[in-house]
Amino acid sequence: MLINTPIDSIEFNAGRVFVKRDDLLHKEFSGNKARKFAYFLNHEFPDITRLVGYGSPVANSLYSMSALAKLKGWQLDFYTDHIAEQVLKSSKGNFVEAVSNGANVIDLSLIEDRNNRSCRAYIEQVVIPNDNQALFVPEGGRCLYAREGVHQLAKEVSDWFSQRKLTELTVFLPSGTGTTAVFLNEYFVLYAPSISVKTCACVGDEAYLSQQFSELITDVSFHPQIVKTDKKYHFGKLYREFYQIWQKVTEQGIEFELLYDPKGWMCVEKLLSDSEDTNILYIHQGGLLGNATMLPRYQRKYPAT
Ligand SMILES: *Cc1c(COP(=O)(O)O)cnc(C)c1O
Repeated sequence: MLINTPIDSIEFNAGRVFVKRDDLLHKEFSGNKARKFAYFLNHEFPDITRLVGYGSPVANSLYSMSALAKLKGWQLDFYTDHIAEQVLKSSKGNFVEAVSNGANVIDLSLIEDRNNRSCRAYIEQVVIPNDNQALFVPEGGRCLYAREGVHQLAKEVSDWFSQRKLTELTVFLPSGTGTTAVFLNEYFVLYAPSISVKTCACVGDEAYLSQQFSELITDVSFHPQIVKTDKKYHFGKLYREFYQIWQKVTEQGIEFELLYDPKGWMCVEKLLSDSEDTNILYIHQGGLLGNATMLPRYQRKYPAT
């Protein structure tokens, strides 16, 4: 079992921010995907031989699913809408590393019987019905199975909180599907009410994120608070202020990733300047492999930064 990562702290804008080092969970299987997939690692699935997933061919979840499949001795079939030439050619990052773990990444645009179906529909209608040894995990690990591993993470934070004798704590993490944030907050509402989760929407807007929370937990009293940035940012796009804040935080000695964390740290900056949150703990959700492709893009776009 992969658990009990350390909690460090860094200086940020003259304040101190604690960092839960889930990037150190395991060298091949780390971050929030490893927490969300812990259920599959911790339980036996004697009838399963194949893991099936879908999403972007550069996603952290592709790599994490390949690591999980490797650890379990399963085949991974990962469906994607399209694999760009640039991704096929790259020698670093999530895609190449997943392929070297043995992942079979399927480009649906090349499949004859696709009939305009989405990846999810194709898997549900064509793949799963023909294979009773396949285990299907929705995009980004957005499912109830994620609760087990995320609650374990929450428990680690709550144990640390008690040992430190803190009275209040804000846990901050940037969200994609919101699965990690909502299950974390659920645990704290139930077992450690002095801790609360704040997050931000990196993929889609705040209304979309709330809707994602509701699909997992309908009762809104379990939902985390969503922090907004002044400006709207599009997922996967490059922004100078993202690169700058990433550099500033990374100079403190911990490397963060470049898709979700820049917006996350902008929100932490805002929380610190509002000075309402006395103690902030940032969850490092891993994903550093993606920097191998994101960082050169930033360096090309903003060479003088
Ligand atoms: C997947 C991922 C997220 C988003 O997690 P959700 O549970 O989908 O909100 C955030 N940060 C990193 C580094 C990720 O890999």
